[in-house]
Amino acid sequence: MTPSTKTRIAPATHFKRRVERWAAKIGVRPKRVFVQAMRGKWASCSTAGRVYFSSDLLKEPTDFQDSVIAHELIHLLIPNHGALFKSFLDAYVPRRSLRRPR
Ligand SMILES: [Zn+2]
Repeated sequence: MTPSTKTRIAPATHFKRRVERWAAKIGVRPKRVFVQAMRGKWASCSTAGRVYFSSDLLKEPTDFQDSVIAHELIHLLIPNHGALFKSFLDAYVPRRSLRRPR
């Protein structure tokens, strides 16, 4: 795909494709991915495998988007933020992209 055709894709569609790539990388299969207005958080997921991302994320830098995507998809494997979760996140996301951009 050339850069010019890529820019014509709606931002939410483009974002969802990145989520699909991350899901393949991590080895999870979210049932459905939503990009929607969310109050006070970047993402959440349900035990049924639905993953929700804030549409505000579309305006953030891609490395931050990636850290949120990876975080939420890892929750499909590990529902808490324990040591195992942290080691998964460390394996997929460089620490420098974890800070919330301002
Ligand atoms: Zn979390």
